[in-house]
Amino acid sequence: MYQADEHRYDTMLYRNLGTSGLKVSAIALGFWHNFGDTTPLSNQKKLVFDAFDRGITYFDLANNYGPEPGAAEKNFGKIFHDHLTSYRDEMVISSKAGYTMWPGPYGDWGSRKYLIASLDQSLKRMGLDYVDIFYHHRPDPNTPMEETARALDQIVRDGKALYVGISNYSADQTKQMAALLKDLGTPFIVHQPRYNMFDRWIEDGLTDVLEDEGVGAVVFSPLAQGRLTDRYLHGIPEDSRANRSDSPFLSKDRVEPTIRIAQQLNEVAQQRGQSLAQMALAWNLRQKAVSSVIVGASRTAQLDDNIQALQHLDFTAAELANIDRILNG
Ligand code: NDP
Repeated sequence: MYQADEHRYDTMLYRNLGTSGLKVSAIALGFWHNFGDTTPLSNQKKLVFDAFDRGITYFDLANNYGPEPGAAEKNFGKIFHDHLTSYRDEMVISSKAGYTMWPGPYGDWGSRKYLIASLDQSLKRMGLDYVDIFYHHRPDPNTPMEETARALDQIVRDGKALYVGISNYSADQTKQMAALLKDLGTPFIVHQPRYNMFDRWIEDGLTDVLEDEGVGAVVFSPLAQGRLTDRYLHGIPEDSRANRSDSPFLSKDRVEPTIRIAQQLNEVAQQRGQSLAQMALAWNLRQKAVSSVIVGASRTAQLDDNIQALQHLDFTAAELANIDRILNG
């Protein structure tokens, strides 16, 4: 029977999501990869236990994470039920809906019908009464934003989520959604955008909106799916995401053009006494709006490497300028 490490809260950093009272671990664990039915449950269990033992309290899921869609929630539910129920109140568990989940017009996007049905399915798969955070996964151009906002509000009032968030919304869309949810009195506390050294779009308006609205950011793919680690510094390993047939989101063609830049960034990281992954995460966390970085991991050594980032979060102006110079080519 799993017993959590008694020292799990000794070294992790916890940050509030915006102006809310909810703190999340500055490093969170994402379930997009490595928790589907193609990964042995024993590996999944080990990652979840090792993460929790190291103070990671925020576990980021979504209806469609797999393969097959739904599998990550089902597998997490099994691990949770067999081992973690007594720790429920020490965990922040999220789910999302917004991408294709089931066939037909009601299994995708942002209607009230889809969001409510999808969360009910997610709760069943995970065997939970409620999630801590429920996100609308992407904006829907064909549903009035007010309908999505009202559905999120109802989900909280029905006790199925404690807080709500949005993901992949632009700065303007975020402002609109924040106004709607403020009118409804919904606890909207978090935005989940992609952010990493190769994709800095949030710096162009979104972080200002989040700070104005008192909403925190938890960012996804902070390591650019591994391109900002030592994974690909010397080529493309056989067991890496870029080489996996069940992962169409990262290919050799996307990795190869960034290897040279990653090697240069790695030199800066070494001068700071950090791994490239550690520097990339610290660089994300330097943003005031960013409360947490959601990392993916295929093994515990990666989690250990990533958590070490918290030992050196500060940057000198010269280091930041050097990083910008490398990124601007
Ligand atoms: P990362 O950028 O952290 O990439 C994770 C991958 O990088 C790992 O699977 C591993 O690759 C490699 N890696 C991680 N740490 C190290 C290390 N220290 N050294 C070497 N390699 C390392 O994040 P993801 O792209 O996986 O996204 C994280 C989470 O964000 C997702 O699980 C999900 O929860 C969320 N997300 C949300 C989205 C949204 O639309 N809201 C979209 C995408 C993700 P390898 O497998 O090759 O070992």
